[in-house]
Amino acid sequence: MAKKILQGIPVSVGVAIGHAYILTRDHFCLAPIQNISEELVEQEIKRLEDAFELTISNLKELKAKIPEEQTEYSSIIDTQIMMLQDPKLKHAITKYIKDMKLNAEWAVEKGIGDIEKTFNGIEDEFFKTRISEFKLLSRKVIGNLIGAGEELKPIKSRVILVAHELTPADTVELDVSKIMAFVTAQGGKTSHVSIVARTLGIPAIVGIEDVENQILDDEFIIVDGFTGRILIEPEEEEIYEYTERQISFEQYKRELFQQSGLPGKTKDGFHVKVMANIELFEEVSSALDYAAEGIGLYRTEYSYLYRSRLPGEDELYEEYRDLVSIMSPKPVVIRTLDAGGDKIGKGFEKLEEANPAMGLRAIRFCLKFKKIFKTQLKAILRAAEAGNALLMFPMISGLEELRDAKRVLEEAKNELEKEGKSYKRDIPVGIMIELPSAVLVAEDLAKEVDFFSIGTNDLIQYSLGIDRTNKYVSHLFQPLHPAIIKSIKHTVDVAKRAGIYVSMCGEMAGDPFCIPLLIGMGVDILSTTPHSVPGVKRVIRMLSKKECEDLLNKILQNSSVKENNRIVKEKVFDKIPEELTFYTSFFDN
Ligand code: PEP
Ligand code: MG
Repeated sequence: MAKKILQGIPVSVGVAIGHAYILTRDHFCLAPIQNISEELVEQEIKRLEDAFELTISNLKELKAKIPEEQTEYSSIIDTQIMMLQDPKLKHAITKYIKDMKLNAEWAVEKGIGDIEKTFNGIEDEFFKTRISEFKLLSRKVIGNLIGAGEELKPIKSRVILVAHELTPADTVELDVSKIMAFVTAQGGKTSHVSIVARTLGIPAIVGIEDVENQILDDEFIIVDGFTGRILIEPEEEEIYEYTERQISFEQYKRELFQQSGLPGKTKDGFHVKVMANIELFEEVSSALDYAAEGIGLYRTEYSYLYRSRLPGEDELYEEYRDLVSIMSPKPVVIRTLDAGGDKIGKGFEKLEEANPAMGLRAIRFCLKFKKIFKTQLKAILRAAEAGNALLMFPMISGLEELRDAKRVLEEAKNELEKEGKSYKRDIPVGIMIELPSAVLVAEDLAKEVDFFSIGTNDLIQYSLGIDRTNKYVSHLFQPLHPAIIKSIKHTVDVAKRAGIYVSMCGEMAGDPFCIPLLIGMGVDILSTTPHSVPGVKRVIRMLSKKECEDLLNKILQNSSVKENNRIVKEKVFDKIPEELTFYTSFFDN
């Protein structure tokens, strides 16, 4: 038996066997806070200057390792170097050493604190986003002052990343190609870490209390992304057993990959298009490799995160144009910026909202910061000429909000007109249905849009009142809750009556236990992580529309989520048993 076994929530399938890499960010608890004598002032300033120099050379080394095509990441580092070279920053810190006789570590915190206060007072988003960068740099400098080295120790060989939490900003700094699996204390099935793991096709487990202290750095572990088990210091027999499982999973994926060109058509001929959700432009290659029939959701917020400043219209235009033309004639649904909530993380944390998920997120954020919004809309409108692009607004709560967003879209068109830039005037416009209010007014909304895309990650969060990133309520994240099934069914029915198409791009679209019900409702498109596309198509091919409708009718008569889960499980186990060996589902919470 292994030395210890931990149980968490499996959120991405697969097995990883290897050494743990514990991601820790806080050197602050180690940083000494003390006063110094007058004679030590010069020495302390020299220590500070050395730490700045070392941080700059660490950044330069990091930059040298970045592949050429990742220009955005390189430019983040260039900006950080420039910030460190700015005499104003050094002056803001050294004055605390000279005047208040504080040691260098404390002076860094005080100096950065002053800058933060100044920036907080400026009513400009761009300046506010800089605060987090100063904080990040101060951690790096303090790390070097206390000799703890760089904030993140380099990942040398392939490792299993163990962290308390993994934010979108963390993934920017990490070399994900060296990560075999993720294990975190925080998170749920639809939080950032889970989506990233599924996109990368690596196993992940979340929700293990205090995991960063339960597993030692470099300890040998097995991550079982099917059951959520972590085996610490396993025995030889266990290593053998899991290696076998790993091999058979790889075989299964290869077989599936060979069939990825086959369509998602039921036995009785109902074609459900299967598309890919992507977060970054680079993922378009895996969408094509896995034969996605389009990009059903491009989460544009992630490419804002990669930049050290807000992107300009031309930059965004080039990115979207490339994506749209590579995929052409297949469709690409470009969702406008969904910043806030658990998205973007550091870049926007200065909003200091007590309840960010209910705060200034997505369309609300864009309607407040219209300049940012309009810049993006203009880029999308121009890029749409390169192929088959569709525009989608996130988190629409009702008609007025939709009309406000469309008004800004009109303004963007008018500006492009005046500037003499060519663009696609009649780009199809759709909305995410991810708020309960949108479900209830879907009839009104359907009259004014070209399509709906159901975002179950948020629809479940807001309907059932469950924070999608909170492990304590993760077991309550129930897609087959009668309220959720009714909400989805109502949305699909409304879309059908209105003659617009309806897709689903929430994680539920890739869950084999949910797919039969979605087919039964007649959803036109399922959009999921690129790696899941072939599997979803195969599940569809194993079913008939008729039997899915029968199953749906049974479920609609029930008022118990437990009963729904039982019925669906029985049916799915009966129809596609061989598929299930390699899936995790929302049922396994
Ligand atoms: C959703 O809410 O289901 C969705 C697809 O959007 P996101 O996960 O980006 O919030
Ligand atoms: Mg959403």
